Amino acid sequence: MQTAEISRRYIDYFAERGHTVVPSASLVSDDPTLLFTVAGMVPFVPYLTGVVPAPYPRAVDVQKCIRTNDIEEVGKTARHGTFFQMLGNWSFGDYFKEGAITYAWELLTRSEADGGLGFDERDLWVTVYETDDEAAELWQKLIGLPAERIQRLGKADNYWHTGQPGPGGPSSEIFFDRGPKYGRDGGPAVDDSRFIEIWNLVFMQELLSEVRSKVDFDVAGPLPKKNIDTGMGLERVAFIKQGVENMYEIDQVRPVLDRAAELSGRRYGAEHEDDVRMRIIADHVRSSLMLMSDGVTPSNEGRGYILRRLLRRSIRAMRLLGVEGPSFHELFAASRDAMKSAYPEVATDYAHLEQLALGEEDTFLRTLASGTSILDVAVTKTKEQGSAELAGDTAFLLHDTYGFPIELTLEMADEAGLRVDRGEFDRLMKDQRDRAKADAKSKKRVLADLSVYADYRAKGETIFTGYTELQT
Ligand code: ATP
Ligand code: MG
Ligand code: MG
Ligand code: MG
Repeated sequence: MQTAEISRRYIDYFAERGHTVVPSASLVSDDPTLLFTVAGMVPFVPYLTGVVPAPYPRAVDVQKCIRTNDIEEVGKTARHGTFFQMLGNWSFGDYFKEGAITYAWELLTRSEADGGLGFDERDLWVTVYETDDEAAELWQKLIGLPAERIQRLGKADNYWHTGQPGPGGPSSEIFFDRGPKYGRDGGPAVDDSRFIEIWNLVFMQELLSEVRSKVDFDVAGPLPKKNIDTGMGLERVAFIKQGVENMYEIDQVRPVLDRAAELSGRRYGAEHEDDVRMRIIADHVRSSLMLMSDGVTPSNEGRGYILRRLLRRSIRAMRLLGVEGPSFHELFAASRDAMKSAYPEVATDYAHLEQLALGEEDTFLRTLASGTSILDVAVTKTKEQGSAELAGDTAFLLHDTYGFPIELTLEMADEAGLRVDRGEFDRLMKDQRDRAKADAKSKKRVLADLSVYADYRAKGETIFTGYTELQT
């Protein structure tokens, strides 16, 4: 079942049950405290908190999401993308636990022939919040799920709130069991590579008067209007339904992975480290394409910095696969072709998106070429001295003169088996900032940190429109 087909079935199922179909909001969130839309819930926050009355009692959507906090997991776990799509059904003061549980179960287990997703109910497990007897009972009595496949977990796993006083409530999550080949028995509470979380149902039922942390908050009382917020990971369901090993092998992502394999002449499946790199490339190229399509351009701060990091990590991963020259031309085209049926704008705006990607690639390949030789020399010297730690001033030089983000130096040092003297690096960075402040005080003109452009400016080029904002 193609990814688009899963999405279509989800939307149709809920639309047929009175849900208004709402288009995805941008990846660039309206919420100034968030860099990106990290969950389907984000665009609905005003309705969920009651700040704005919901224009419909029920809604369904597929929301584009970016989660940078999952970046280290990408390619290593089967289930974490920096970009992914969250399908959601919403009830604003309308149906509650029973409705949400019944709908989710029915859609998952109804046969494919009948418009469902065709999961075998014996493969599904659920978790509920430790004190949520109501949800546990619904799963057991109404759905008929055996008690041993219902696990109770605490606040860290099964309680949702925004981090602010306001609505909160227990959640119930649905997991797919991939079988003993993938890990230990004992359900999602025991093993998260065998038991894949596919759907999170949040029951917003109480008002929190104070929130000190994820697990430490005070409940003031029940909410007058209870809401349902759910999130099903489209890529996760897709990889299970497509019978592949992970989300990077689904129809919307795999073509990029294959292109990376072809360009490098290495075979996917032959060597674990290479496989991880190919998966990282497939993920990051897609995330970058989608971010640029929502108007983000590479830069040195905020959203643009995240995009830059994704682009640069892809380039680095290609290099580790042995490809030293440019490859974005091929990789982005592959991602465009895989994504355009779901997001036609990636094809219609492609010339512009490609220009941004190729510009970043060109700059970074030059940066890498000069910085890498400096780093190689430093690594050899460090090892000759019998040390396992790269000096902080080398990391600083790489940052300051060669435009290496510290994350890059950390990664490259790690690949060479070295730590980095981070304390010294941070001290040198602080000194530099202090000097800049002192300069500012003495009324000298101070620019934002443009060091990453050292290489680029040295050549006196002004090629990339996306950079102009940083050049003034
Ligand atoms: P996990 O524990 O696997 O990291 P999560 O609990 O962080 O997932 P939620 O915040 O509950 O995820 O998001 C709702 C759903 O969105 C998840 O059940 C999952 O199907 C999907 N999802 C979450 N994060 C990702 C991701 N990084 N890549 C792909 N799908 C994701
Ligand atoms: Mg997570
Ligand atoms: Mg989870
Ligand atoms: Mg979850």
